[in-house]
Amino acid sequence: MAKRDYYEVLGADRGASADELKKAYRKKAKELHPDRNSDNPNAESQFKEANEAYEVLKDADKKAAYDRYGHAAFEGGMGGRGQHPGGGNGDFSSAFSDVFEDLFGDFMGGGGQRGGRQRATRGSDLRYNLRISLEDAFAGMQKAITVPTSIVCSGCDGTGAEGGAEPQTCPTCSGMGKVRAQQGFFTVERTCPTCSGIGQIIKNPCRTCGGSGREEKERGLSVNIPAGVETGTRIRLSGEGEAGLRGGPSGDLYIFIEVNEHELFQRDGVDLYCRVPVSMATAAIGGDVEVPTIDGGRSRVKVPSGSQSGRQMRLRAKGMPALRGAGTGDMFIELAVETPVNLTGKQKELLREFEKLSEENNPLLNNFFSKVKSFWEDMKN
Ligand SMILES: [Zn+2]
Ligand SMILES: [Zn+2]
Repeated sequence: MAKRDYYEVLGADRGASADELKKAYRKKAKELHPDRNSDNPNAESQFKEANEAYEVLKDADKKAAYDRYGHAAFEGGMGGRGQHPGGGNGDFSSAFSDVFEDLFGDFMGGGGQRGGRQRATRGSDLRYNLRISLEDAFAGMQKAITVPTSIVCSGCDGTGAEGGAEPQTCPTCSGMGKVRAQQGFFTVERTCPTCSGIGQIIKNPCRTCGGSGREEKERGLSVNIPAGVETGTRIRLSGEGEAGLRGGPSGDLYIFIEVNEHELFQRDGVDLYCRVPVSMATAAIGGDVEVPTIDGGRSRVKVPSGSQSGRQMRLRAKGMPALRGAGTGDMFIELAVETPVNLTGKQKELLREFEKLSEENNPLLNNFFSKVKSFWEDMKN
């Protein structure tokens, strides 16, 4: 019998998105669910057909191959075992358990246990929040951290069996993890009581870990924080997460960086901003100010005469380094001209004299004052 087109099987268009394919598949799976089709002898094969179609179309690589070559993409010796999509042993219950997981896995928080046999399981990814200072983000650092995690049991090398012996296939369920029982007219399937669904048993559980293959440990790690990280940067330490179960691979450890606010510098990407107070006299007649820099040093900045408050100046390459790249940002300084307070009598006297001279000296200002004066006089009239 010729195979039906996978899109046709799912009742989806060729151009359907991944979401649309998933929806179409869910609909089919519900329609063909064995519980609803006790009187439809074709339901089982249609159900398997839909399952097979979705197995291919949900996988971007397989889908691309199918779109290009059709069913021929998966026929013939393209690498032997497991190439047949939706393959496995063709057993109805195992096909169903895959569907079940796919249909409901989302609602159960995913990562559910496969219904059938269950062997090595990858360990969980771990998250570690690390707060660092802006100075550390600037320079990069080597940071020692302690991660509470589980590691592969040293007593059994992760197998869970005393002395590292291989676990054995469960004799009750022959490794399926499930047993079937006849109840009246129905056959019911339930989790194997001997192995709790794992499909394997351990004759002599490891004394160190009780058979789980993992030990709880605080683990010290040295993390390389590259220069230029910012809040939200994630650093992945491959294989440093939780140990896998029964010899499965370890998860990854993700370091989430949070950079503390800095007293003096505000950061915008690779640039830094800093407000620098200057005296009224320096702003007026010009001069030098010293500004702190993020590398811990100081830079002298020339303040041009007649600088107003808010004037911005750029110090090239005094900002933050770009993460994993060439280049450094700039530092922008903003002058904050300070009005003097708590003046002595002498200072006040000098300022009054200064003011008088300014008025005489500054035709623009005089012009402005006379305008204001005539404005008020006009208002009175
Ligand atoms: Zn052990
Ligand atoms: Zn069993």
